[in-house]
Amino acid sequence: MSEFDDVLAANADYAREFASSGLTGRAARGLAVVTCMDSRIDPLGLLGLSSGDAKILRNAGARVTDDVLRTLVLAVYLLGVERVLVMPHTDCGMAKVTDADVHDLTQLRGVDTRSLEFHTVPDQDAALRHDLTRIRTSPFLPKDLPVGGAIYDVRTGRLLPVAL
Ligand SMILES: [Zn+2]
Repeated sequence: MSEFDDVLAANADYAREFASSGLTGRAARGLAVVTCMDSRIDPLGLLGLSSGDAKILRNAGARVTDDVLRTLVLAVYLLGVERVLVMPHTDCGMAKVTDADVHDLTQLRGVDTRSLEFHTVPDQDAALRHDLTRIRTSPFLPKDLPVGGAIYDVRTGRLLPVAL
């Protein structure tokens, strides 16, 4: 496990100071955030949240996939979520490639990924509109569930709400 020595050592320090054991698995602020896996995004920090406040769903491109919908259903009916913010970001790698580009790149390494859909984002506004609609029209989620969209600017730290 030597590849993980740094994080295991950091965790030992973390556990020594740990003070959140009283939290439950419910989202204390009733919020779910769907965002990208981009390492520049600190969802709790940029939204003024702490551990226990929100459900954070992350994937490449902040896309509302079937698995995100599955998770939102559980978050809403079991874990106290009452509002959903979909939060893609500027300079996203998913907006710079197409699925075909990714297939070509993996092919160079001898791997055939054509059976995977990467949900790349050729048009970020269109993708966000599509993803918000997916949540709003899901037959499995409450009709009156507030669903918002906002783009996080990785250069300024600002969140730009979008009216879609
Ligand atoms: Zn991204």
